[in-house]
Amino acid sequence: MKTPGLVIASLAATTLAPLASAQSLTRFKAHDMSRPRPPVVQPAPQALPVPPPPDAIVLFDGKDLSEWRSADGGPPKWVIKDGAIESVAGSGFLYSARGFGDVQLHVEWATPVPPHGRSQGRGNSGVFLMGLYEVQVLDSYQNDTYPDGQAAAVYGQYPPLVNACRPPGEWQTYDIVFRRPRFRPDGGLVTPARFTVIHNGILVQDGVEPWGPTEWLQALPYTAHADKLPLALQDHGNPVRYRNIWLRELPEGPSALPTPDPRPVVNLPLAQLDRYVGRYKLTGGGQANYTITRRGGQLLFQLSANGRALELVPHSERAFSLRWTAGDVDFDLKPDGTATGLTFRLAGDTRTATRAEE
Ligand code: MG
Repeated sequence: MKTPGLVIASLAATTLAPLASAQSLTRFKAHDMSRPRPPVVQPAPQALPVPPPPDAIVLFDGKDLSEWRSADGGPPKWVIKDGAIESVAGSGFLYSARGFGDVQLHVEWATPVPPHGRSQGRGNSGVFLMGLYEVQVLDSYQNDTYPDGQAAAVYGQYPPLVNACRPPGEWQTYDIVFRRPRFRPDGGLVTPARFTVIHNGILVQDGVEPWGPTEWLQALPYTAHADKLPLALQDHGNPVRYRNIWLRELPEGPSALPTPDPRPVVNLPLAQLDRYVGRYKLTGGGQANYTITRRGGQLLFQLSANGRALELVPHSERAFSLRWTAGDVDFDLKPDGTATGLTFRLAGDTRTATRAEE
């Protein structure tokens, strides 16, 4: 029997769209100071900066801001100091000139030293994927704030699993795997965005899915947007520094689905299938290594005495493929269709075998 609570929950899930149902999964409203603090974990020393791999797009290598723009599309107003870009209060967000969707992003950042301010006012900035989804940058070293707004939080939604902050002034790393949200042509949400974040070598976000763009005070629903949008760094009025920013564009998804065998599948009569059944000796070697059996209408191929029987799919009287593995078996046939041998191809190797006399 449904309790009233369950009825309400199911109504919310079906009529109020992902926003309400996702929020109902958490016990806490946004920016709740009573939320438990993520445990502090002291990160181990890292060799920095982390060099970009060869297929990375380098957005900032310490020299110039050619890959960056202001909000109005004009030249950036942030400044380069000692190989780092520094946020200038009141200059606005810094946007990448190019748009990106699914990425692996590496960012190094440092908050001001000595620290000024408290809570959200200390070393606040942010890395906004697609300009909409923020991984918070904050001096969270011995600086209490609401957990969904501390460093490495998906802002206002997911506190980090742990607080892995280094002291202010020290360089810190974010390695972010971001999957963009997917929208239907009519604008409906197919899949939400997804974040995995490693902070100073420590996992802090494990595939979390924001319920919409991140925002202070407001819970915003997803609104359909482009597949690629500029990365943004937040000006929150504090001179936070960034360096060594690079990313790798990720494939949109599992595009490498198995390629169907272009050959048609044929039906062979059971009498024909029986003409392959038997043991086959590998050419040049001793014991019967392969065995062909029939189970109902399936022909099965066994690579060894203890091996599992693999189903063969017929494409002709001679040519078969393994159903689940990229391998082929071609039979040598006498004019009456009886097999005298086989050729087995797997993983670039070809082996031949001769049918053993029974
Ligand atoms: Mg921020």
